[in-house]
Amino acid sequence: MNVPFVDLKAQYQTIAPEIDSAILDVVRGGGYILGKQVTEFELAFAKYSEVDHAIGVDCGSSALELSLRAFDIGPGDEVITTANTYIATAFAASHTGATPVLVDVDPVTYNMDVELFERAITPRTKAVIPVHLYGQPADMDPILDVARKHNLIVIEDACQAHGARYKGKRVGGFGHASAFSFYPAKNLGCYGDGGMVVTNDPQVADRIRIMRNEGQSQKYYHDVKGYNSLLDTVQAAVLGVKLKYLDQWNQARRSHAALYDQLLVNSGVATPKVASYAEHVYHLYIVRAPERERLQAFLKEKGVFTGIHYPIPIHLQKAFPELGYHAGSFPVTEKAASEIVSLPMFAELADEQIHATAAAIKEFYQA
Ligand SMILES: *Cc1c(COP(=O)(O)O)cnc(C)c1O
Repeated sequence: MNVPFVDLKAQYQTIAPEIDSAILDVVRGGGYILGKQVTEFELAFAKYSEVDHAIGVDCGSSALELSLRAFDIGPGDEVITTANTYIATAFAASHTGATPVLVDVDPVTYNMDVELFERAITPRTKAVIPVHLYGQPADMDPILDVARKHNLIVIEDACQAHGARYKGKRVGGFGHASAFSFYPAKNLGCYGDGGMVVTNDPQVADRIRIMRNEGQSQKYYHDVKGYNSLLDTVQAAVLGVKLKYLDQWNQARRSHAALYDQLLVNSGVATPKVASYAEHVYHLYIVRAPERERLQAFLKEKGVFTGIHYPIPIHLQKAFPELGYHAGSFPVTEKAASEIVSLPMFAELADEQIHATAAAIKEFYQA
């Protein structure tokens, strides 16, 4: 049996007529830049995320960077985030001129270790970016307490957590601003790049609206130095269709995870744990696997494709020599990076594919 890691075309097949007609509407309508579909999707996404404002941008990376810039974060400032995240979180801080300061994660949830966060705060610290990694919310209450105590801006990186809830409330509404990505493989993905900033602060929303559009408050009036970072109208039309299915798709992911959990008891791999405060949306289903490379090769031979998120932690990448970190700086992240495997996970995954994956894992460890 073939079990792809993710199958984006399978999802398209389930909603093809609606998607096709939404795209054609844009092409025929001519509103290619900031067309009405962008505004419609912004309103729908704000409502879905239980926040006041949503501003469409060109990708999740821009959503993070513009959020930081909206609070004038830049040279001389420090921005704390986790070593165990996609590198774009740290790039967002460094592109503003600020210094990303990394902290290690909790070994069970893979999200920010709040004690280490507090210890990393210096007089230069201006912001913190908790990441809801793999679709599981970070422990926001203690993070917000520490941030308030030290007067820090909180930007949630919700790029992997569309629809996830922390203590019953959607992620995105906890920070001063929050970033989402609509990269195709995300839980809510378009057919190219896309992103969104959400916030409850009307002034921040206005600043980001202006910054993403070449600094214009109205056409040809450039109030600040801006960017061309707009959410594309075609992508907004696609996302408007897909948003209606997001809860259903996230529910499917949770069912798949429950089946994996059940089938992988005593299989040789350790299954992910969900914190009591979290409603996980399983952007990724991460297991800890002894002899990971051999397991992956074995699964591949059986037609089961896996991933690693992420094989090389940020602080060991060549991109950040100036930060001065080294092997051993973040032991929890480094150990995870050497043991984690992401199993096939997408809404359209069939139960038989999950059974086949679990059976192959058991076979590997029993041999
Ligand atoms: C995908 C992702 C980003 C970046 O989003 P893009 O749309 O690819 O720019 C940032 N942070 C995390 C945690 C992500 O998963």
